[in-house]
Amino acid sequence: MMGLVWFFAALLGLCVGSFLNVLIYRLPRNMNIAKPGSHCPDCGYALKWYDNIPVLSYIILRGKCRKCGKHISFRYTAVELTNTLLWVACVFFFWEKSIPMACIYALACSAYLTMFFSDLETYIVPDSLQITLLILGIAATVLDPYTPWYAHLIGAVAFALVFWLVAFIFSKKLGKEALGFGDVKLAFVSGLLLGWQKMLAAMLIATVVGSIVLIILQKVKKRDRTAEYPFVPFMASGIVLMIFFGETLIDGYMGLLTGIVSG
Ligand SMILES: [Zn+2]
Repeated sequence: MMGLVWFFAALLGLCVGSFLNVLIYRLPRNMNIAKPGSHCPDCGYALKWYDNIPVLSYIILRGKCRKCGKHISFRYTAVELTNTLLWVACVFFFWEKSIPMACIYALACSAYLTMFFSDLETYIVPDSLQITLLILGIAATVLDPYTPWYAHLIGAVAFALVFWLVAFIFSKKLGKEALGFGDVKLAFVSGLLLGWQKMLAAMLIATVVGSIVLIILQKVKKRDRTAEYPFVPFMASGIVLMIFFGETLIDGYMGLLTGIVSG
């Protein structure tokens, strides 16, 4: 029985991953997500069904368009494989504890994966992703068997406030927008989804890793200090990590604290 669940999680994760590639390209550009069908961005060749099989077509076509031979970004295959892995991981981590939570987290991982690339490529986090995460966040608040509902609500309000404050202070200080209102909304829905403890851990990871990458990029690429760096990909990565490992991390930390207090 469990074998069947694994199989369908992987297959469905792969197909959804393929669809995420469509969303990554079309949502920030306000394009219809159903029509027209997939086509080559260079020559406009309309992909046949057999050109559009996740992963397989990329291998068969050796990463090139069938008609014009232009290189197809490896991002497409990377997104498909990552989404498959995330969905299988959701079954592994959550299915036996709570089937609804496994589904909520799987969809949330897909939303963050989409956001990772749409923000990296266009600096846009589409509103439809925020709304999707809001719905998933409400569902998690009600259904999460481990984190109580008020921890989810505190996460939403506290992190929206922190982000709003940072945005406010920086815009006063620098005279330009450091964090947008989109980031405040994202902090709200993510805090709601995770609860405040995991959200705190996710933001610490995102800030530390983001700062390290920023410093390396400035050294290596000699990029302008005032140039814009996308924070959302780091945020999304931190959140997905904490979806899977937050419980363990917080339990370990609490164990350490009680150990210090009692010992
Ligand atoms: Zn082409």
